[in-house]
Amino acid sequence: MKPTPAAPAPVPLCDIQAQYRALKSEIDAAVLRVLGSGQAILGPEVAAFEKETAEFCGAQFGVGCGSGTDALVLALRALGIGPGDEVIIPPFTFFATASAVCRIGATPVFVDIDPLTFNIDPNQIEAKITPKTRAIVPVHLFGQCCDMDAIWDIAEEHSLYVVEDAAQSFGSEYKGKRCGALGVAGCLSFYPTKNLGALGDAGLVTTNSPDVDKKLRALRVHGSEVKYYHKYIGYNMRLDAVHAAVLRVKLPHVAAWLDGREKAAERYDALIEGQALHGFLRRPFAKPDRRHTFNQYVVRVPHQHRDALVKYMKDSGVGVEVYYPLSLHQQECFQFLGYRTGDFPTSEEAALSVLALPMFPEITEEQQARVIDVCAGYLRQTVRRAA
Ligand SMILES: *Cc1c(COP(=O)(O)O)cnc(C)c1O
Repeated sequence: MKPTPAAPAPVPLCDIQAQYRALKSEIDAAVLRVLGSGQAILGPEVAAFEKETAEFCGAQFGVGCGSGTDALVLALRALGIGPGDEVIIPPFTFFATASAVCRIGATPVFVDIDPLTFNIDPNQIEAKITPKTRAIVPVHLFGQCCDMDAIWDIAEEHSLYVVEDAAQSFGSEYKGKRCGALGVAGCLSFYPTKNLGALGDAGLVTTNSPDVDKKLRALRVHGSEVKYYHKYIGYNMRLDAVHAAVLRVKLPHVAAWLDGREKAAERYDALIEGQALHGFLRRPFAKPDRRHTFNQYVVRVPHQHRDALVKYMKDSGVGVEVYYPLSLHQQECFQFLGYRTGDFPTSEEAALSVLALPMFPEITEEQQARVIDVCAGYLRQTVRRAA
């Protein structure tokens, strides 16, 4: 009897253990160093990480905090934004961009996205500016920077702050400058699946302003500059030393990991073309004047096939995900803002067509070939069924 061929190995959406396997002895030593130090929160590991990360981004200061969400809340608060103010954001982003605006008492004002990059469309911003507008939050989605020249011009013209949501774009560049240094403040996330991932939740705000830096440092420790004397009603949004120590081990490897993501994206592009699938899977669009770091490799699929393809791929052992299935103006919790379906057609369309394929720096050519083979298999099957 012939042995049955083994099922192909599953391909995960993301392999966060790969970096731990590669750097195990250094990471273990960093964790033990913190355990032995008795300094669990903030302290020298955090201070060193802040300095190294700010330097990486090309910013003067870095203020570590508990998450990317914390970073957004801290940055907006540090700029004095609050109740009665409006903040312009895209509706096609992770929830935290909008929730941070609400949590400081301000109102998110949505502006639709560019259909090619999924980033905020600068041509639609000015129509949404009112006397209450204080800031624009460009979200560099999936690893690609927004159209910063146009955003800077609008911000200058209307005296608005630019606060980057760079959670998905650590290391991405716009005209040779790294994000995190493209606004008055840059909000970074080190959630384990981001370009630089901690052991758990962690984040950081970058800035070139000494005043903003000072206020961020106070706000993250309950608004106090002197212990037990509170200048502001702040938060507990501190960074743990163990995360900082592990992130410091990983930081010198980020450049190589970003190269790995870029190469993997090129291989996906070639595989999609090679299998003549480009009519079915529309490849991500990378603008030539900036560096896309592919935190996610997001293709577009015809609406009628998207959810069936997701199921087919998951059933075949390929980890895929939909970022994001519902535009933020359509979320239940934001109904009070008064938007309706139809208000942001490009964002709504993206929510129906996007599909993120497995992407991590260590992904192999074989794994990627399998992902695209499974897509091709789905297409063959549906075409056969239709015939
Ligand atoms: C991940 C993410 C955040 C939030 O970061 P956390 O560290 O998970 O709190 C904010 N904005 C965007 C665009 C993100 O992808």
